[in-house]
Amino acid sequence: MLWNVNLSRSVEAVTNRDFSLLDLAGEHGAEQVAMTADPETGLRAIVAIHSTVLGPGMGGTRFMAYESEQAALVDVLRLARGMTYKHAVCGNDLGGGKAVIIGDPGALRRDSRRLDALLTGYGRFVDQLRGRYLTAEDVGTTQADMDALRAITPYVTGTSEHLGGSGDPSPATAWGVLHAMHGVAERLWGSASLEGRHLAVSGVGKVGADLVRHLAAAGARITVADVRPEAAAAIAGEVGAVVVAPDEIHRVDCDLFSPCALGATLNATTIPELRCAAVCGCANNQLATEPDGERLAEAGVLYAPDYVVNAGGVINIADETAPGGYDRDRAWTRVATIHDTLLRVFALADEQAITPAVAADRLAEQRIAAARTA
Ligand code: NAD
Repeated sequence: MLWNVNLSRSVEAVTNRDFSLLDLAGEHGAEQVAMTADPETGLRAIVAIHSTVLGPGMGGTRFMAYESEQAALVDVLRLARGMTYKHAVCGNDLGGGKAVIIGDPGALRRDSRRLDALLTGYGRFVDQLRGRYLTAEDVGTTQADMDALRAITPYVTGTSEHLGGSGDPSPATAWGVLHAMHGVAERLWGSASLEGRHLAVSGVGKVGADLVRHLAAAGARITVADVRPEAAAAIAGEVGAVVVAPDEIHRVDCDLFSPCALGATLNATTIPELRCAAVCGCANNQLATEPDGERLAEAGVLYAPDYVVNAGGVINIADETAPGGYDRDRAWTRVATIHDTLLRVFALADEQAITPAVAADRLAEQRIAAARTA
């Protein structure tokens, strides 16, 4: 594992705590961790590169206030590892990486001079990794931030289309979820058609609302919920869906339940309350704990692993790295292959008598192991 720390001040800041950086990174299997702390701009950032076996470590930059540097490090290590698996299983020639900028983006966004200085410093930091890490938008960062970073370093993805980027990944993510649902339907009912099926979608934000439109076009019956009642009412009015309360949606008697809001919604309390045949949605980290994968299987609910289902966005972004640059048709054709990947996950789960969540991890690990020995 490689460590890069830009300034001795940051070493002091993080070693002055009751935990071992090396042990933490080792436990998460990181190849490299880089940190920077710049007193002039206030930038404090960590990049974790989990694996470059399949390609450069790629994943977004999360900008948020963490309760401690340890919490930030654990988060970035965990997220980078998740990206390795996500790229591997969906067929991207990319490895796992992630970055965090520690701080309150809201406060900084009120001062554009300070924001520009911080982004410039961050762009230089990413550039120093010389392409071992490719960044992108994530919680707390925006496409405008990526466009600004692009002026400093080429190692940025998800920029605006006029800069040669692929733009907002959400429509591609929704397209991928739709194809995952076709896969689930084929597996459960022998036909990919969603016509007449009842879908319950929790969270109708950027991905969820787009997904609901696709489902309506596919002839599905739809129930939606959102903590923003106006968002639920708007999409329901548009497609003729039924609205229920956010804490009721997982209890709706339906064919497919689709978590498209927050993570950890599948847990020891909610799983016994599910009345669906399968769960298939875009939210990250849907299983609160690992045993929840088993719990779903015991409850007779087919689980389509979240990182397989929601890979449309990263498949779309990965196309930016192809020779000749981004091609939307090619990217979206690949997004639709999430259907086939999911069926492979289910087949492996059957073959090895394991849950789909474990099968997805194994598929990813098999691809990485094969690339390592090739
Ligand atoms: P978003 O913020 O646009 O939408 C989330 C929606 O969920 C919002 O409308 C919000 O009001 C609603 N919500 C929040 N808490 C809720 C609750 N308890 N019950 C019901 N609704 C609730 O986000 P998004 O980009 O649509 O992403 C949705 C999920 O998918 C997130 O977990 C995200 O990490 C994941 N994801 C998104 C993408 C992408 O391309 N945008 C890619 C992969 C994964």
